[in-house]
Amino acid sequence: MTGYRADVVVPCYNEDAALPQTAPVILDYFRALVADPGNGLAGFRLILVNDGSRDATWSIIEGLSHAHPEVEGVMLSRNFGHQAAMLAGLSIADADVIVTMDADLQDDIGAVAAMIAAYEGGAHLALGVRNDRSADSARKQGSANAYYRLLSLLGINIIENHADFRLMSRTALAALLQYREVNLFLRGLIPTLGFPVTLVPYRRQARTAGETKYTLRKMLRLALDGITSFSVMPLRIIAALGALIFLGTMLATAWFLWVRFAHSADVVPGWASTVLPMLFLGGVQLLSIGVVGEYVGKIYLETKRRPRFIIQQTTSPELDAGARAQAARG
Ligand code: UDP
Ligand code: MG
Repeated sequence: MTGYRADVVVPCYNEDAALPQTAPVILDYFRALVADPGNGLAGFRLILVNDGSRDATWSIIEGLSHAHPEVEGVMLSRNFGHQAAMLAGLSIADADVIVTMDADLQDDIGAVAAMIAAYEGGAHLALGVRNDRSADSARKQGSANAYYRLLSLLGINIIENHADFRLMSRTALAALLQYREVNLFLRGLIPTLGFPVTLVPYRRQARTAGETKYTLRKMLRLALDGITSFSVMPLRIIAALGALIFLGTMLATAWFLWVRFAHSADVVPGWASTVLPMLFLGGVQLLSIGVVGEYVGKIYLETKRRPRFIIQQTTSPELDAGARAQAARG
């Protein structure tokens, strides 16, 4: 396989500390790959998506695109979130292979060579898998592990320790873009695509510069999307819990009647036996309504079919045309 091109999509949110350091690393890496006769990569384009940053990220992207012919910038009209920003870049990418990675290069760019090799070997998806997360905080590692366990309990098929560092063939990307959901959890969609998949292990690095852009809130949102977009198990658990409580109440009632009439004991209805079940049921009901509400909210958002991202401007007319075509497709 020779003469193919790559689009590298990098979402950037308030990355003015990291980008000036990481963009040159990405450029050098891919230039070296193109120069290397050991693979068939003939050219690449670096698509930097500014996800409504409030710092100097966009002017840095514009500067990079002036300085380097390979760099293109896409500016979203506001902060849409990591997943939507990536999708924006993916939707205007049109190369033979598409690579996605984070702007802070926490995902070891050295793994891309193995992804390229996997593609040449026939893989349509090459997924980066973290085999060592010691660079992440203990809190992040712990919560990630607990979350993966919960996902597999709920029957959600997900590739453990794969985030959004991957290579896709043009064909696989076209398949991914057919998924129209507003609630995006790309790494959950990937295993549903099919295609020959290769896992590429790498070591997770420390952030190059700046702070994590994933606030606790954003992380919880993503975690919840991951569950409710792929599993109706929480709804079933509620139904099972309801059935269990109903059964328990029937048994308790039968026991009470038996004590009251068969033994004619002096049954004084106590405070605890009245108030505690009431509070318990109230709590279970509120929680259950909350879970159902989460799904109803999802339906509400999906039925509106609002755009998942809005592109305000780009650094090249060619990209503008791509964005317009994408918007027209809906
Ligand atoms: N990001 C984004 N929009 C957001 C939050 C994050 O585009 O609302 C980007 C961010 O610039 C980075 C990537 O998503 O390129 C991953 O974010 P970060 O490194 O802060 O997350 P972490 O690695 O700590 O999970
Ligand atoms: Mg990071």
